[in-house]
Amino acid sequence: MADLEIRNLHVRIDETEILKGLNLKINKGEVHAIMGPNGTGKSTLAYTLMGHPGYEVTDGEILFKGQDLLELEPNERSVLGMFLAFQYPVAIPGVTLANFLRSALNARRKAVNPEDKGIPVPEFRKFLKAKMDLLKMDHSFAGRYLNDGFSGGEKKRAEILQMATLQPEIAILDETDSGLDIDALRIVSEGVNTLRGPEMGVLVITHYQRILNYIKPDYVHIMLAGQIVESGGADLALHLEEHGYDLLREKYTA
Ligand code: ADP
Ligand code: MG
Ligand code: MG
Repeated sequence: MADLEIRNLHVRIDETEILKGLNLKINKGEVHAIMGPNGTGKSTLAYTLMGHPGYEVTDGEILFKGQDLLELEPNERSVLGMFLAFQYPVAIPGVTLANFLRSALNARRKAVNPEDKGIPVPEFRKFLKAKMDLLKMDHSFAGRYLNDGFSGGEKKRAEILQMATLQPEIAILDETDSGLDIDALRIVSEGVNTLRGPEMGVLVITHYQRILNYIKPDYVHIMLAGQIVESGGADLALHLEEHGYDLLREKYTA
């Protein structure tokens, strides 16, 4: 069984079915990209994986490390090793990024070992500095208050640092075209390229082919009208760039 297995997923928002039998398998060590036109349900998939209450799963299942993901609260998903970068991260006033990351890391450690007393502050400082060095981030960034006046690029930087800190088994990044300026694009792709490796699987959801010039996915999936209609290697993205979605629409929507 794959580390993350989505089988025949049907999801409704209000009365409208958005995901209509989506199948996807992701393993640690693999980088997957989902592409698809606007309104096709890409963010719906991300929100469903995150456990957003507005998204009703009416059929199918999601297994994460063999467990029924849909039975787990969002924070339980996170401590189990699933990372979801939020499209619009919320501001938490009065909490520094470093403190936020230390709490998140401690929650994850405690889930692995209930006896864990948390990482000692000096050790965490060293750990975080090493991660920031790896990602070529200025150390002062960790002292910033969370999302307090963060630019788009800084929000992305905070997300990538959170990913580096939590060392998830599966990371899901929902990247809209809006707000993904060239700076943010570079931060996300360099971050993913630095952190990708045998211990982490990544799913990049994008409206925006261009990110795939920077992140070379092992697998590309095309989503249309709530389903994955084609899967292939990185060349599928290039093919799509050349031919657009119209041919696929003709093929898959009668
Ligand atoms: P994508 O990310 O591929 O652009 P979304 O998952 O955001 O697609 O949206 C899929 C469909 O669901 C669209 O038709 C959109 O209008 C609809 N939708 C998204 N969010 C909501 C919502 N909160 N309430 C009702 N409809 C929604
Ligand atoms: Mg959209
Ligand atoms: Mg979207």
